[in-house]
Amino acid sequence: MSNKEKGVNVQVLLRCRPFSNDELRSNAPQVVTCNEFQREVAVSQNIAGKHIDRIFTFDKVFGPSAQQRDLYDQAIIPIVNEVLEGFNCTIFAYGQTGTGKTYTMEGECKRSKSGPNGELPLGAGVIPRAVKQIFDTLESQNAEYSVKVTFLELYNEEITDLLAPEDLSKVALEDRQKKQLPLMEDGKGGVLVRGLEEEIVTSANEIFTLIERGSSKRRTAETLLNKQSSRSHSLFSITIHIKEATPEGEELIKCGKLNLVDLAGSENISRSGAREGRAREAGEINKSLLTLGRVINALVEHLGHIPYRYLRDSKLTRLLRDSLGGRTKTCIIATVSPAVHCLEETLSTLDYAHRAK
Ligand code: ADP
Ligand code: MG
Repeated sequence: MSNKEKGVNVQVLLRCRPFSNDELRSNAPQVVTCNEFQREVAVSQNIAGKHIDRIFTFDKVFGPSAQQRDLYDQAIIPIVNEVLEGFNCTIFAYGQTGTGKTYTMEGECKRSKSGPNGELPLGAGVIPRAVKQIFDTLESQNAEYSVKVTFLELYNEEITDLLAPEDLSKVALEDRQKKQLPLMEDGKGGVLVRGLEEEIVTSANEIFTLIERGSSKRRTAETLLNKQSSRSHSLFSITIHIKEATPEGEELIKCGKLNLVDLAGSENISRSGAREGRAREAGEINKSLLTLGRVINALVEHLGHIPYRYLRDSKLTRLLRDSLGGRTKTCIIATVSPAVHCLEETLSTLDYAHRAK
């Protein structure tokens, strides 16, 4: 039975990227086959003359030839419509490093590549497409509105602002630690990150500049801090306020929030998770990724109710507390590589994602 039939608002999609040029050159055997129509992914391989075949079913499956637009149109549009109705929704990209999480969420989104009539470039990912859908809808309605975005990174349970103006490459490591922002209760059941830049956005086009700014900051940090990005999560949040008048002439404010999360590489949990004791000592375990797994299991198993301690247990789940459970929608996009050298991680991603279904 799918989550929809059970009344759970968690949707799990699977996306398999195409072979990279390196994989093509080395003639890497393909071990993953997608059947989009049947919503199935098959993993097959011959090990010591024995044929191994496993099949996983998801809410939707996107094979290597699926374009950014296919995924968006088929899976994300209804979620953004919920946000425009005043609900909070979250989309996660989960998978091994190098399988297309950032490609799926941000994509190739330089503004210079966009078409003449404000069309998005073909490579644009979920974030710019969502922003465009939001502005297209708001501009066609006759209501006052405001759109704000924040973009932060979570590394080792520390929060860094990806939109803050200063250039990380010029900040010494010790000083960078001081730039960590504290997470606090807002007294209204939510949390806030003190000092986080909130950008007011007035058109879809501005988003490209913001993503560029945030991702280049993330890349700088990555080279400085030893491949940080594979171990860090990024969270892009869009908050919309819409002022509407009721038929009785009263004023009504609808507030919706969309969270777009590019998670740390799943290899950070599957390998270290297997030898948790030692890994924890070495500080390798990614607490937010572990806790998120528990939250998603709880969402699926308890029909929307999440034990409070899970939400409190890591920075990521605290940040997302007002957007998980209840009348919210959660979408997980699990990403995998088709190649044989990723087989082990691919199976663990498929298992993780399948458990959430
Ligand atoms: P991750 O964020 O999971 O580490 P990336 O998004 O950086 O992975 O993707 C790794 C590489 O594969 C990038 O060069 C990216 O452009 C390419 N890539 C990933 N997914 C796709 C896809 N569906 N189609 C085309 N190229 C892709
Ligand atoms: Mg990435």
